[in-house]
Amino acid sequence: KRRRGGRPVAFGAMIEAADRDARAIEKALRAALRRPGQLSLLYQPISAAGARRLERAEALARWTSPELGPIPPDRFIAVAERSGLVVELGQALLGQLCDDLEERPELAVSFNVSPLQLLAPSFASDLIAELRRRRISPARIELELTERLLVDDPRLAAERMGELRAAGFRLALDDFGTGYSSIGYLREMSFDTLKIDRSFVTGLERCPERRALVKAMLDLAHALELQVVCEGIETDEELALVRDLGCDLVQGYHIDRPMNLGRLAERWLDQRHE
Ligand code: C2E
Ligand code: CA
Ligand code: CA
Ligand code: CA
Repeated sequence: KRRRGGRPVAFGAMIEAADRDARAIEKALRAALRRPGQLSLLYQPISAAGARRLERAEALARWTSPELGPIPPDRFIAVAERSGLVVELGQALLGQLCDDLEERPELAVSFNVSPLQLLAPSFASDLIAELRRRRISPARIELELTERLLVDDPRLAAERMGELRAAGFRLALDDFGTGYSSIGYLREMSFDTLKIDRSFVTGLERCPERRALVKAMLDLAHALELQVVCEGIETDEELALVRDLGCDLVQGYHIDRPMNLGRLAERWLDQRHE
């Protein structure tokens, strides 16, 4: 059975269901942004590769809607991007981040910024003003950007990135290897950190080609004087391999899961001086 457009009926129905979900998520998200308490941040440790030592923690958004239940961040951030809510959402999350940085003066974080949020005209100036007001140093914040940003509008992106770096933020290129950007961007745009995507790290011990690829990315990054984080470390073998290949920092379930601020402090901050 096919529709006039030639698309199988079942597929069409699937798309309609997805659209309906997106509308429901958008509506619930609007409500969530008006009433605080539904959105939160978890923190996943990023450790030195050679020792269990917290370098910083990646803030990861969580949302449980009273009507829809828990929604994965990939999903609600995609909806927020399409509906223009992402700027407001990002502001709400940054407010939470600042509260947490105030509460834990020894904490350094990385924070995911979606392309639309970064390109919003007042993003940098608002953030800088807010941090100044609260006396939080921008040096404690690394902003994680994706390659998509660089592809959409490299000129404007470079301008915004320059502004943020001048203010003292660190910048990381997230999910490296999964996007469309060229190595040229890496040279021209001034990043501090390169995050090698999980897809390159998974099963590293069983795949010599993947190992060669990770090695090449590490060498490239180090030649450009970037710090490298390998994401998605799930096993001891993966950890040992990326460490031996020269990776600086590691992140993944094998190191630790995303957790709330209190637990992060217990497990990673309070023990620092032992
Ligand atoms: P991401 O920035 O690449 O974040 C890493 C994701 O990998 C997180 O998923 C994390 O929980 C997960 N992860 C960490 N270690 C492992 C591992 O060892 N194995 C596996 N399988 N997964 C691991 P999460 O929290 O579901 O976030 C998904 C994506 O949603 C993030 O990917 C990021 O793109 C986006 N996101 C999350 N929070 C925010 C936010 O506050 N703002 C923006 N713009 N995007 C966010
Ligand atoms: Ca990230
Ligand atoms: Ca990533
Ligand atoms: Ca990702």
